[in-house]
Amino acid sequence: MQTAADLYRAAADARRYSHSPYSHFSVGAAIIAENAEGGRRVFTGCNVENASYGGAICAERTAAVKAVSEGYTRFTAVAVSGGYAGEDEQDDTFPCGICLQFLSEFASDDMTVTLRSGTYAFGELFPNAFRL
Ligand code: ZN
Repeated sequence: MQTAADLYRAAADARRYSHSPYSHFSVGAAIIAENAEGGRRVFTGCNVENASYGGAICAERTAAVKAVSEGYTRFTAVAVSGGYAGEDEQDDTFPCGICLQFLSEFASDDMTVTLRSGTYAFGELFPNAFRL
């Protein structure tokens, strides 16, 4: 069983692959996801910036797209770690609004969101997700 601390460590480790030459703010994310066959895996991601700023993608969505593209569409936990390149992670690097909406597609309100400073319920961070 992956603890919240383990998942946070995986997110912090994923920061090392961040491509953030513009903001110099590296972010890592880790998601526990399940597939329709009952499989359960951890997917990690980092932020990937681009010279065309709008082409950038956050760490959370990188991890989410990796999971969904392999059939893991039910997220039960996510961890996020961020900080300036070469520095320790900050206490609170919350998912941005776009990522919260993106994650809501694959998460319930009780999905846990672990940051360095603690763990939140997804519904606490994003209580009114747009869902069809
Ligand atoms: Zn984001």
